[in-house]
Amino acid sequence: MSVRVRFAPSPTGHLHVGGARTAIFNWLFARHHDGTFIIRVEDTDQARSTLESEAMVLDDLRWLGLAWDEGPYRQSERLDFYARLSRELLERGVAYRCYCSEEELEQKRKQAEIDGRPPHYDLKCWFNRRDDDAPHAIRFHVPDDGDVTINDLIRGEITWRKESLGDFILIRSGGFPIYNFCVVADDHDMRITHVIRAEEHLTNTHRQVLIYRAMGWDVPEFAHVSLILGQDRSKLSKRHGATSVNAYADEGYLPDAMFNYLTLLGWSSPDAKEVFSRDEAIASFSLDRVNSAPAVFDSQKLDWLNGQYIHAMSASDLVPLVRKFFDAPWLEEGIDVVKTSVHRLTQFSDALKFVVEYTPPSVDREFATKLADELRTNGTPTDADTYHAMVERLKAATGLKGKALFMPLRLAITGLDHGPELVRSIPLLRHASEVDSRVLSPLSRVERCIA
Ligand code: GLU
Repeated sequence: MSVRVRFAPSPTGHLHVGGARTAIFNWLFARHHDGTFIIRVEDTDQARSTLESEAMVLDDLRWLGLAWDEGPYRQSERLDFYARLSRELLERGVAYRCYCSEEELEQKRKQAEIDGRPPHYDLKCWFNRRDDDAPHAIRFHVPDDGDVTINDLIRGEITWRKESLGDFILIRSGGFPIYNFCVVADDHDMRITHVIRAEEHLTNTHRQVLIYRAMGWDVPEFAHVSLILGQDRSKLSKRHGATSVNAYADEGYLPDAMFNYLTLLGWSSPDAKEVFSRDEAIASFSLDRVNSAPAVFDSQKLDWLNGQYIHAMSASDLVPLVRKFFDAPWLEEGIDVVKTSVHRLTQFSDALKFVVEYTPPSVDREFATKLADELRTNGTPTDADTYHAMVERLKAATGLKGKALFMPLRLAITGLDHGPELVRSIPLLRHASEVDSRVLSPLSRVERCIA
């Protein structure tokens, strides 16, 4: 049987890192097994779901490179299907019409709390079954053999007792189906073989398996992926900084790095590799290497990993990505000079600030005068050879070497006491000053130190 999995976002905002990781695990599992990856939009919560949010979530998935094979299906377009199935459940006698009003149910819940009983439905409409058209919900009856055991592919064997559940609603009065019902109906209809989803849905699984059984349907495999925590070990939330995928795009993370990092949040590759391509991840992905313990989101590690991806890219490939944050006619050369110091695309503008901005620092006047003479006489270095030749002549002219030579040289030319290698920065500044009127040439910089 070929593998079919789905990612089922509720479109109530941008895609969050937790959802993105669930999507990635589904995608990897599908690709590893040559299976089918399906997107299903769970938009039956009319108050919170928007088409705008659906578009954002789909964009976020595309940005991460998670192409889907089927969908997006929308639950809001399948209401007739759920209604038909609920009638089937009524006919089978496993569900019934419940005519209790909201107020009545609230009253019963309160009473149960006062009596110290679980807030389960008291079965009034189960014992007095009717089928008239007065406003009613459709409620599922938990059968006597309602214990459920699953063998979760990540968490192992899990059992729920019948007693922990009361009869629960499938379709609200007014006709709107509830989440647990739609999920089962769709997972069956879409022939989903493996339900890979967040741990928070584990408690729904009891109800869902009972619905499968009542319909006489095969139960899929389940794999519940653990939570993502912040550094303080509480559930990852806005307090911890960016949590939505688009915010990471805006902050200059690369989709490949994000994909790699999120894959590592809970999964480890069999050869303990931390930087891997999508193809490598597809080849080695399996659910039995997904950790059942919560994963801790480590933004420093993400930065490190993003840096690895940036450093591995050519400057010309980086140009269109960096251009969103910073642009200049000499951008490609600039990127090439500073890229090993950068961890996020947004950092290029800071790393290249020394090219467009210059404040004359205080440097020894005699040194600056000799340096200016050197640049006037022999020209400004355009490459490594001319740079090294300049350094040799400066050593001879000033009698300085090592730090005593390179620090004032760096200060006079870049205006800063740190930065990329001078052998790269000086030719960059020269070329940049030729094509960009904002950029002062090395010689004009040194002249400003003297003036
Ligand atoms: N729509 C649910 C959510 O966004 C997912 C349900 C499921 O995967 O079964 O959390």
